[in-house]
Amino acid sequence: MNEYDSAKLSDVLYAREGMMQVENPEDADVILFNTCSIREKAAEKVYSDLGRVRALKIINPKLIIGVGGCVASQEGADILKRAPYVDVVFGPQTLHRLPQLLQARRETGLSQVDTSFPDIEKFDHLPAPDQNHLEGPQLSPGTAYVSIMEGCSKYCTFCVVPYTRGEEVSRPLADVLHEIEDLVKQGVKEVALLGQNVNAYRGIGDDGDTVDFAYLLQSIAALEGIERMRYTTSHPREMSQRLIDLYATQPKLVSHLHLPVQSGSDRILAAMKRGHTVLEYKSIIRRVRMARPDICITSDFIVGFPGETEQDFEATMKLIDEVNFDNSFSYLYSQRPGTPAAELRDDTPHEVKAARLKRLQDRIEEQEAGVASAMLGTIQRALVEGTSKKDRKELAARTDNNRIVNFSGAVEMIGRFVEVRITEVVRHTLRGELV
Ligand code: SAM
Repeated sequence: MNEYDSAKLSDVLYAREGMMQVENPEDADVILFNTCSIREKAAEKVYSDLGRVRALKIINPKLIIGVGGCVASQEGADILKRAPYVDVVFGPQTLHRLPQLLQARRETGLSQVDTSFPDIEKFDHLPAPDQNHLEGPQLSPGTAYVSIMEGCSKYCTFCVVPYTRGEEVSRPLADVLHEIEDLVKQGVKEVALLGQNVNAYRGIGDDGDTVDFAYLLQSIAALEGIERMRYTTSHPREMSQRLIDLYATQPKLVSHLHLPVQSGSDRILAAMKRGHTVLEYKSIIRRVRMARPDICITSDFIVGFPGETEQDFEATMKLIDEVNFDNSFSYLYSQRPGTPAAELRDDTPHEVKAARLKRLQDRIEEQEAGVASAMLGTIQRALVEGTSKKDRKELAARTDNNRIVNFSGAVEMIGRFVEVRITEVVRHTLRGELV
């Protein structure tokens, strides 16, 4: 989400002010920090980053320093108290207003703050996506991120998102489809749909009715030129049977599902206010695997939620053994100000939590290695994203189940689909050869 927002910031400044991205902060006229506040560390980091660029104002008195994203939403004008040299503060829903904020800053000499949630107007004011404008974090020339909804209305007790990004708001169906049609004209073959809970999508359809995520996926799949669709991230409560059925009938949907579960203990799931039980989560996975037997499942885990006992943690380990995950984003619980869980007693020592996290991550790493080994000898359809990070002479392609495979091939293949036989697994990296 943040990478996408950063790309949009870059697009807006390019389209409205003709600004180009530069390599070194010393050469910049505007320095923006697009921030995340999901965990405490991420939020604190912005203040140390700000401290580092502050001195550049001495060299360039016209330098503008801005803070956007969720830390900006959370702290608002308080950022100016701690870092008075900051010129503009804007939230995830007001990044399109940046040119006006910059202008107001220049005209008045006063710092500007706008962290409101003006519904979904952002998308009406963003420039059309331009794959040729290489400032943004391009996944690959063949792939594009497309944001379909923003915010979250689930109010999990540990999470700041509803307070920093606002409640769930979906873009109208026609807007999403037009954006993708535009991208296809620029050579895009795969879209990665983005949102805090994409499967909570409820967009206005062509006849004014509300359409769901399954309908959106079918509409995208029907667009000529789109060969593959991925999405992130989703919520178990929104995993409808209509969506699950698509894994049986819609081959353009990739064989990878990222479905956050957070914990394998019903007691902790209830305290987190997740709105589902472990059994319900397992039932979703069972049905998805019935529809698409070779699908890879990844998840998010929070270890050390207040009150998590050894028994609760063992329940999480049991769930991991039962599901067999192919990766996870797993972190220690981080207390976020203003969230209900911040009020809960938390007696578990940090070392105990850290040891639990290590055990969980080791187990998932074993499972990840198992999934990779099972791919040995198989032929995978993969979209070539670019050259390999480790060896620029090699190409890197993404398989349907979201694995990167490196192989020898011509750079002309970048942005195209290829068939690769998996020949080797080195730790988690797959190597292959063109078929
Ligand atoms: N669809 C997702 C879900 O089902 O919750 C929402 C994505 S959430 C914004 C991203 C992830 O950040 C969560 O799944 C959770 O694991 C992690 N996260 C959120 N708040 C956290 C906290 N206070 N401490 C640690 N991790 C947190």
